[in-house]
Amino acid sequence: MAITATTEMPADKTQERNEIGKEFHWNVEALYPSWTQWEEDVAKWGRESSSTRWPELELFRKNWKDSHEEMKKLIEFCCEVERRLSKLYTYAHLRHDEDVAEEIAKKAHSRIVTLLYAFRQETAWMEPELLRLSEEQLQGILQSPLLKEYAFYLEKIVRMKAHTLEASEEELMAMAGKALETASQAFGAFNNADLKFQPAVDGKGNSRELTHGKYLLYLRDKDRTLRESAFKNLHRSFFAYENTLCELLSGQIQRHLLEMRARKYGSCVEAALFPNQIDVKVYSSLIQAVRAHLPALHRYMHLRKEAMGLDKLHLFDLHVPLVRQVEMGMSYDDAVKIIVESVAVLGKDYQSALSQGLSQDRWVDRYENARKRSGAYSSGCFDSMPYILMNYHGTFNDVMTLSHEAGHSMHSFLSRKNQPFHYSQYSIFVAEVASTFHEELLLRYLLTQVKTKEQKAFLINQKLDDMRATLLRQTMFAEFELKMHKFAEEGIPLTPALLKAEYRKLNEEYFGPDVHVDEEADIEWARIPHFYYNFYVYQYATGISAAHALVDKVTSGGDSARDAYLAFLSAGSSKYPIDVLGLAGVDMRTSEPVEAAMRHFNELVTELDGLLR
Ligand SMILES: [Zn+2]
Repeated sequence: MAITATTEMPADKTQERNEIGKEFHWNVEALYPSWTQWEEDVAKWGRESSSTRWPELELFRKNWKDSHEEMKKLIEFCCEVERRLSKLYTYAHLRHDEDVAEEIAKKAHSRIVTLLYAFRQETAWMEPELLRLSEEQLQGILQSPLLKEYAFYLEKIVRMKAHTLEASEEELMAMAGKALETASQAFGAFNNADLKFQPAVDGKGNSRELTHGKYLLYLRDKDRTLRESAFKNLHRSFFAYENTLCELLSGQIQRHLLEMRARKYGSCVEAALFPNQIDVKVYSSLIQAVRAHLPALHRYMHLRKEAMGLDKLHLFDLHVPLVRQVEMGMSYDDAVKIIVESVAVLGKDYQSALSQGLSQDRWVDRYENARKRSGAYSSGCFDSMPYILMNYHGTFNDVMTLSHEAGHSMHSFLSRKNQPFHYSQYSIFVAEVASTFHEELLLRYLLTQVKTKEQKAFLINQKLDDMRATLLRQTMFAEFELKMHKFAEEGIPLTPALLKAEYRKLNEEYFGPDVHVDEEADIEWARIPHFYYNFYVYQYATGISAAHALVDKVTSGGDSARDAYLAFLSAGSSKYPIDVLGLAGVDMRTSEPVEAAMRHFNELVTELDGLLR
């Protein structure tokens, strides 16, 4: 394994953005050279000054039912506006995330969000009016040669018939949309800008700045005092606002409840899964399958406790590598090199597109700066690069994260290249497959490079921790999310005491007898942004399971298996998500992929146990 020192690493004190070289920033100029051009485009496509921003829509409304040709014109107009607005949005949100306290970007972001809601509102009549047509007319539309390229797009709308309201009610729901964002917006502002943490203290008594970006770094540190202090100080900050944070989460759940009841679904989870034709059974069987294999996690916790020589394992002991000899301090450029090599099985074209994106084309905003959004993501739109936000510090975990986000970006890149605008965005159900696929390939690549037993143990240990975080922890989150929604559906008030007690129970059941769950961990639910996403997290768990199955297929299946996988990456949302995955040859309607992933986890525990002895 290549372990090199890096010269680009940011200093301990968080830098201001202008102190970091432009060549390490993402290439937002490719989207708009400056705010001036952005403003020109807003004026052209957003028309903020008039009360009806898109008067064309009213004209279309009068005659779109007259012919399939008129209908096609309406759809094309909507796609065009949506496409332009999403480009405007992408620029504003990227600039906003560079520095969440910066006024220009903050205002621009909020203006464009307003425009997006206005557009939703001004087009809210379309679906209900379409659905009021007779069955015969609807079938005519779905079969129309003129509308062939929109057939699946229209089929998805027609499928929503039982859950679509009258036109005036839909307009009202669209108008309420922005107000209903408040809980989630307030949480974001609190978590990213307002909340400050007490510094952590390391084993030598030194005070260490604590930020979202540095938190995981500290949790991976050998210094147990630092880990414990970071863990406790971070969670105590959330404890101090537990009532507010409980109200925010509860407010978000009330939003889901309102939508579920207004649209006549049986439950919030059904409402979230129905549009993508995903059966609620996929969700519940994930939880069942993972729970059935929890003894494998308990075995791993026991092994970890023994390997670390501890009496009691705490939650702040779960991230530190068990094999301490192998630490990475890898420069960004070296990370790109090995990531590109690791995906060789996907072919030369794939590799060169990836390499160019991560280096010359500057998809990535690499380093942490003051007030930059925490974490990492891949984002963009039909007319942009598939940008990546990172807070790269050169750890093994950062290299894995870059590989992960690059997987998302390549998925976006290929879907946009091969699909028209209206099918270019893949659904979130399949969103974590390409990213996890990348990570697994990188890990397997590194396993071929290692020379010693220790290095092998290090990688297997990392893999186990990754599966614990992605498959097991996210399933625990999914279970918590489902429970909170069920309480709300039954009219049980969500209080800090209830949430903390339920969260503790899950922590204890999942981690088992060898882990001591500190009181601070009871508040963890209050800091998880994903609980504002509406049944999102379970897809990490189904995604990693599908990805594992696909890596096995592609690495052993030759050209046809590779082409099938690339066809999946290129399919965007041109089919239902379960069917898109079917293109690559994996069936998520069965629990087999999850069971197989958990069996693999158990085998890795055994292997690590052998290596550590
Ligand atoms: Zn991801």
